[in-house]
Amino acid sequence: MAAPFFQFGGYLPRAMKLPLSPSKTEAARAIAEALIPGQRVCLTTHVNPDGDGLGSEVGLLHLLKAQGITAVVTNPSPTPPRFNFLFEDLPGADKSREAIKELRRADLIVVLDIADLGRLGMLGETVRDRGVPVVCIDHHVSPGELPPGPRYVDPTAAATGELVFEIGRANEWALTKEAARGLYTAIMTDTGSFRFSNTHPRTLRVAAELLETGLDPERMYLDVYANAPEGRPRLYGEALQTLVVEPDVGLAWVTVPPGALERLGVSADDLDGVVEFPRSIAGVRMALLFREISAGRIKVSLRSVGDVDVAAFARPFGGGGHTKAAGLSLEGAMGEVQAAVLEAARRYLGGNGKHQE
Ligand code: 5GP
Ligand code: MN
Repeated sequence: MAAPFFQFGGYLPRAMKLPLSPSKTEAARAIAEALIPGQRVCLTTHVNPDGDGLGSEVGLLHLLKAQGITAVVTNPSPTPPRFNFLFEDLPGADKSREAIKELRRADLIVVLDIADLGRLGMLGETVRDRGVPVVCIDHHVSPGELPPGPRYVDPTAAATGELVFEIGRANEWALTKEAARGLYTAIMTDTGSFRFSNTHPRTLRVAAELLETGLDPERMYLDVYANAPEGRPRLYGEALQTLVVEPDVGLAWVTVPPGALERLGVSADDLDGVVEFPRSIAGVRMALLFREISAGRIKVSLRSVGDVDVAAFARPFGGGGHTKAAGLSLEGAMGEVQAAVLEAARRYLGGNGKHQE
């Protein structure tokens, strides 16, 4: 009698743990075919890169290195100090300071964690005009515009890092511990440390395989979250002092005091997680964080609870993101932008948070 395939304590053989659809396998192979040793490859992500953008880049960089392909990171904004540890064993790989120069020499560009030129900030024009294939690996729901090239886009993935893992798996690329460190950072940060609704069984299977390379989960937590400048908890304190709650509407928001980042010697990245506090209040369905990003330009981070779709809310303002985590930015003074966005939010929640005409 044939042995049952669950004979090893219920574990599936490695190759069967993460079945990929034929269309995903085909898309992953098309990306591998576009990557030719000897090419100049640039990896890039959105302005103010986060753990998913940077972790996916570093993960892919290591996967490609093991395939004999050298790539560099060319982002529109500098790497926040929190994520410098990802580049410690990759001297010279983060070329974000000379991104335009590198992009002008690239044979292939890989855009990660976005699908829109608009989110590439000052690099958008260069990427648009280069005339080289642009690979896109992304998990956002918002449609975007990029030059042609192989696509691997799946909004059901928790993080772009999960998709980079799949592409590696489909092509049987060796998964090193260094690659796993980047991809684990990507998944841990985009799932709020495996708390958010995007944490699917599949996400944990990928995370498990990443840990199986020998990564220490506590080390990963310490590197990403427990290596903060003193100003980070002080910034949290100042921002949380501004909390306003409208319990009847299900709305709560906080505002970063003007000049707080500079005064406390921290960067915008240190705000990561602040919006979870207004979101955590019982009865809140939409939480917002307001911050001035430059003179007269306000950025709004949006988070939702339940079935409120904040990506749809952000779209008429030119923003986007995911159903439960999205963002937008608007010209105007803080007071004006808050009045307009909060009024729209009240109307939106009055209509149950479903897309309103
Ligand atoms: P965060 O609020 O943490 O900056 O971003 C949450 C999500 O919304 C991320 O997936 C991010 O890509 C998206 N997002 C944030 N700001 C913008 C924006 O100005 N435009 C678009 N399209 N997406 C944004
Ligand atoms: Mn992401």
